[in-house]
Amino acid sequence: MRKKSKENFKSFTAQSSSIWHNPRIAWEDMAFALAGVNDITSKYARLKYADERTFHKPLVKYIGYRIDKLCLERGWLTEVILRIHPDFLDRLAELAVHEMTSTELCRKCKGKGTIYTGYTAIDCFHCLGSGVLKKTETFRARYVGLSLRQWRETWQMRFRGDILGIFDVFEYDIQRALRRRL
Ligand SMILES: [Zn+2]
Repeated sequence: MRKKSKENFKSFTAQSSSIWHNPRIAWEDMAFALAGVNDITSKYARLKYADERTFHKPLVKYIGYRIDKLCLERGWLTEVILRIHPDFLDRLAELAVHEMTSTELCRKCKGKGTIYTGYTAIDCFHCLGSGVLKKTETFRARYVGLSLRQWRETWQMRFRGDILGIFDVFEYDIQRALRRRL
């Protein structure tokens, strides 16, 4: 894998914020700039912009921890949901990381919507057979295992505001580090 090559860098700038569009900036410079941000921000940037998948798990774990904290601080009740969907909070963290770092195409099935297990093809469990990770409320609800109504009533605003808001600090720190270093 040529994770740090220039052409790879160009290919992952397409949907990201404007500062990353400059193709004259080599990944080496980015890596240098990222030395000035904290560890989790650096992991986020490397996952999002250099597609370094090893940082996916630690990032999901960190976001999960932040969501836990939000639940405590804001008094978000999850007991009932967790009884039915024990992995609800994990899915929420996963969804947030996906939306912030991935392209629309599902990585698990590479956009095909199906996964092959031996001789049979099954619906990809990751994207629920759609092949893409859609940023629609219907998709978000299904992804975490809630009905659309449950999602809309309680989690939609929390997700859009507080949970995706966790990433604002990352983005801000990255931009600031780049301005300072380049
Ligand atoms: Zn898939």
